[in-house]
Amino acid sequence: MVFRASILTLYPEMFPGPLGTSLAGRALQRGDWTLETTFIREFGEGRHRLVDDTPAGGSPGMVLRADVLARAIDAASPEDDPRPRLLMSPRGRPLTQGFVRDLAGGEGAVIVCGRFEGVDERVIEGRGLIEVSIGDYILSGGEMAALVLLDAVVRLLPGVMGNSSSGETESFENGLLEHPHYTRPALWEGRTIPPVLTSGDHGAVERWRRAEAERLTRERRPDLWSRFSNRDD
Ligand code: SAH
Repeated sequence: MVFRASILTLYPEMFPGPLGTSLAGRALQRGDWTLETTFIREFGEGRHRLVDDTPAGGSPGMVLRADVLARAIDAASPEDDPRPRLLMSPRGRPLTQGFVRDLAGGEGAVIVCGRFEGVDERVIEGRGLIEVSIGDYILSGGEMAALVLLDAVVRLLPGVMGNSSSGETESFENGLLEHPHYTRPALWEGRTIPPVLTSGDHGAVERWRRAEAERLTRERRPDLWSRFSNRDD
C-alpha cells in the first residue's frame, strides 16, 4: 500500500515544490508515495471560473465557496475514500508527531488548502473536513502548511529514511525534546565535547542523554514537561 496524497489548491504549481527534492523527492520518484493536485479553479462558476465571494454578514476579504470546493473534493476523493480529508486551517487541531504518525500509517490524505479569509463553514461540515493547524500564526494560504505536513509524514513512510526516522529519542517521540548532538572535531574554537560521550561507557552515555533531554524539555517546554512528568507508564 502506497501513501496517496491529494492536494486541492488554487496554486497547483506550488507542488511538489520542495517535496520534489531530497528524501521526499527520491521517495516520490521511487513510488513510495504519490502526489496528485486538483486545481480548485477548474470547478469554479461560470466563464470566469469564480471560486470565492464576499463574506455573508460583511467584512473585508473573500471566502472560498462551498459549492465550488465540494465539486473539487468530490472529484478528488470518492465518497468511500478511506483517506482522511484535511483542511489546513489556523483554527485546526495542532499538528503533532503523534498525528503525523497516524497519518503515515494510513492510506494517504486529501488535503484542502484554504486561501483568502478561509472557506465557507458548510463545506467543512458537509464533507467532514478535519481542520489541522501547523502553528499559531497566519499564513497566506494552506499550501505551505500542506507541504509541512507532508514532509513530516513522508519521512516516516517505510523505506524513506532507513533507520534514523524511527529513533525513539527524536524530539516528541518519547514526550521529550532531543538531547544535544556533537561530532568531530573534538576541539572547536576552544569548545570540547562532553567527555562522557567519548568515554565508551554506553550506559553512561544513555543516562547523560536522558538527563539532557529532560533538562531541555523542562527549561524550554513546560507544557511538554508537565505532560511528561504526569504520564502514567
Ligand atoms: N481568516 C483566517 C485565516 C485565513 S489565512 C483566520 O483568521 O483564521 C488563509 C488560509 O491559509 C487558511 O484558509 C488556511 O488554509 C491557511 N493557513 C493560514 N494559517 C495557517 C496555519 N497556521 N495552519 C494551517 N493553515 C493555515
